[in-house]
Amino acid sequence: MAIPSRKTSTRLQKTPIQEKLLYFYERGHAEGSPSRRDLLGNKGAGLAEMAVLEVPVPPGFTISTRACKIFEEGGGRLPLSLEKDIEEYLHRLEKVTGTGLGDPGKPLLVSVRSGAAVSMPGMMDTILNVGLNDETVEGLARNTNNPRFAYDCYRRLIVMFAATVRGVDKDKFEHHLAALKKKRKAEADSQLEASDIIKLVDQFKKVYRQELKEDFPQDVWEQLRQSRDAVFRSWNSRRAIEYRRLYNIPGDLGTAVNVVSMVFGNMGEDSGTGVGFTRDPASGANVFYGEFLANAQGEDVVAGIRTPRPLAELETVMPEVYKDLRRVTRKLEQYKRDVQDFEFTIQKGQLYLLQTRTGKRTGFAALRIAVDMCNEGIITPEEAVMRVDCDQLQAILHPVFDPQKRSAFKVVARGLNASPGAACGKVIFDPDEAVRMAEKGERVILVRPETSADDVHGMARAQGILTCKGGFTSHAAVVARQMGKPSVVGCETIDVREEDGVFVANGVQVHHGEFISIDGQTGEVMVGSVPLRESSIILALRGELAPDALQPYLYYSTFMEWVDSFRRLSVRANADIGRDAKIAIQMGAEGIGLCRTEHMFFAEDRLPAVREMILAETEEERRVALRKLLPFQIQDFVDLFEAMGGLPVTIRTIDPPLHEFLPPREELEAQISRAKDAKARGRAAKLLERVHSLSEMNPMMGHRGCRLGITYPEITEMQAEAIFEAAIQSAAKTGKMPVPEVMIPLVSKTSEYIHQRDIVNRVANAVFHRRGRRIPYRVGTMIETPRAALISESLSEHAEFYSFGTNDLTQLTFGFSRDDAGKFISHYLKSGIMTEDPFVTIDQEGVGQLIEMTVRNSRKGGRSIKVGICGEQGGEEKSVGFCHRAGLDYVSCSPFRIPVARLAAAQAALKEARPK
Ligand code: ADP
Ligand code: MG
Ligand code: MG
Repeated sequence: MAIPSRKTSTRLQKTPIQEKLLYFYERGHAEGSPSRRDLLGNKGAGLAEMAVLEVPVPPGFTISTRACKIFEEGGGRLPLSLEKDIEEYLHRLEKVTGTGLGDPGKPLLVSVRSGAAVSMPGMMDTILNVGLNDETVEGLARNTNNPRFAYDCYRRLIVMFAATVRGVDKDKFEHHLAALKKKRKAEADSQLEASDIIKLVDQFKKVYRQELKEDFPQDVWEQLRQSRDAVFRSWNSRRAIEYRRLYNIPGDLGTAVNVVSMVFGNMGEDSGTGVGFTRDPASGANVFYGEFLANAQGEDVVAGIRTPRPLAELETVMPEVYKDLRRVTRKLEQYKRDVQDFEFTIQKGQLYLLQTRTGKRTGFAALRIAVDMCNEGIITPEEAVMRVDCDQLQAILHPVFDPQKRSAFKVVARGLNASPGAACGKVIFDPDEAVRMAEKGERVILVRPETSADDVHGMARAQGILTCKGGFTSHAAVVARQMGKPSVVGCETIDVREEDGVFVANGVQVHHGEFISIDGQTGEVMVGSVPLRESSIILALRGELAPDALQPYLYYSTFMEWVDSFRRLSVRANADIGRDAKIAIQMGAEGIGLCRTEHMFFAEDRLPAVREMILAETEEERRVALRKLLPFQIQDFVDLFEAMGGLPVTIRTIDPPLHEFLPPREELEAQISRAKDAKARGRAAKLLERVHSLSEMNPMMGHRGCRLGITYPEITEMQAEAIFEAAIQSAAKTGKMPVPEVMIPLVSKTSEYIHQRDIVNRVANAVFHRRGRRIPYRVGTMIETPRAALISESLSEHAEFYSFGTNDLTQLTFGFSRDDAGKFISHYLKSGIMTEDPFVTIDQEGVGQLIEMTVRNSRKGGRSIKVGICGEQGGEEKSVGFCHRAGLDYVSCSPFRIPVARLAAAQAALKEARPK
């Protein structure tokens, strides 16, 4: 593409720019406000902050994110006035560093680095050593008395510039380097002689000419301009656009460009480069953590080319530098009040920091760091609660490999335990294939030599990630931790032969599609699928404390105590049987928000009575069958009440269409043809006849919910009797007063509700009278048809509570059934017609209006009926936040989502208290 020269951009000269677009910084001082991430981008803000804090940083300047927009609007060029200003800033940098861009006597070299306010894939990679040409490289060699070093920088610049700015395939260059290394029997670049590298530069220049039909630019200003413009252009790269769409990031934020004077880690053994974290990002432990490489530049550490050494070794090789590094990074952590992920370079024994940012961490590390930092007095409990994502909390509760059963599996390799967790899946090498398999519901482990931004989509769909190269700070490790996925990296004994469809690990061949298990806690790779066990925190919550569980559990319980102190929403569980209710209590449930009574009908010992009831021809016959069911239902409810102590238990009367309790038609037809005697045939035939008569065009909108209880009042009667009888029995047994809440489903008219409520009240009185004891209870209704929401004001005069059944409410509001919507919702999501699945997260725009309206109506005239939600969405983070804002009293979700719902509720309350 044509690079506009400065002289042709006069058209834009007429609109001089008022806004400040350039920000200079040097140690001890920075222009503008470093906290303006929106203008400086993350990287620029970090550099400015470090400068102000007197952390050693090489001087430089940042071109604001606003210039990105100006560049776009100018059709891919900057206005002349801005070009002039940039020139001026560059002169300032020359003055501060005592060098000159393109000056062979004292050449200024810079790096050109992208940096938006949000980090995202697809942005241009950094270009180092801009400012080198055939003349300045000689100058650099002379000044440093180190031609090897100077030409090493030059060859890197040519490759980076060609690949990143001009889109040439890196391999076109790299294979020359590889061949040379082979010839010299050198393992690392750093072992090559100066004369070799000088020849390599010549070769690289030839490749450049061959590929691009022009020479590598000797005009250093041209190098700078082209690099800068490439950064701006990368804002609209396909990958960046896609990522922004996926995460709803506005397209007009723009990226900043950082021009940073170079410092060199490749000047010899007293130089180096590294990365680190102020605390361990995998375990959260308060230990200094990181890696470095001596005599190396920039990306060498993270690229996984050479395996770096742990930072602890720096303490022995360069004790003074190590001390400095600890001091400045501790200062950064104190100032930022969070774990920092930093990059540094050592130039001839002198330390420089080149980047600092908030460190990504695993779920448990997030929890531990939040609690530790609060205990250390660095952050408040409110902040601690905001520091752990719902996904991170969920990850802590994920299962781990069963320690008893894993010994039966062969460990074929061991790598770095980069991101904890247990994962099993089929070996897949290609990220696209990983996505395809995951879409089919298969579990896969993505196995790659190393990963890059191009693999992220596959990593996102894999159970875990296994790589051969790279350290704790490699792409695979960092991204896996962020995603909360188990990963084992740097497994050097593994040889991935993708083209043969195998990887070989210590002599064992593992084929594409074969199951493996990886343990992100120990770094072990096992063939086969190792059985899982509950996480130690879940075990501890159950009272089965494993020896390794005490510390994690203490962190968890401290954290959750803080969580509970900030939330207003109460959290209940959807649980149908005593066993689930017990788990719910362990997970922190404050009641049951939904017990689906019909689930009890499916049990084998009840099904005959249920079928008898359905087949009954008369009310009399039906009542006989219901009598048989009554003792079962009483026992079910006794279990529930006992598990819940004195907490409220919401019990929904029968909801699904009756045909669900009968065998499928095909099965009955087969039974008839197979039947040995007339009696068996007769039974099956009768069932079949009933199945025919019950069959509906659209069962989800058919004879179900309160419509059943209205046509067969005796069913509601039996259920009410079981509830109150059980309540009395349980109260007598435990001494705790149960709080039953009887909930009528699928109401759309007030009269429907009143009909059912009257039955419940009548039966309650009868039971209380007979037993000589009263139990306080409530009767209420679900709001799950749009009509119920519309009449919620008058309905609320009769109902004592509301609970939103958001599955049905979503189906009926959209007019599509959840069972059929799968066919097109995935298409909608892909094509952007929908950004979220309304069955996963509440559709706030539409269904949300019905919810808000109902809450308002229910509270008119000073009434205060309890309002909750019991649909699947009740445990999903965003929906919980919405329920908080809409003023609901509680959310109810599956027991395993309860901790997350508690956290989401607390975070919603804290966000409201202190809007960002
Ligand atoms: P990324 O966002 O991919 O980390 P960076 O801009 O941080 O890209 O740069 C890539 C590598 O180059 C990092 O290791 C960084 O420390 C190093 N680097 C960047 N600018 C300079 C510089 N001026 N001097 C020395 N090293 C640099
Ligand atoms: Mg970096
Ligand atoms: Mg429903």
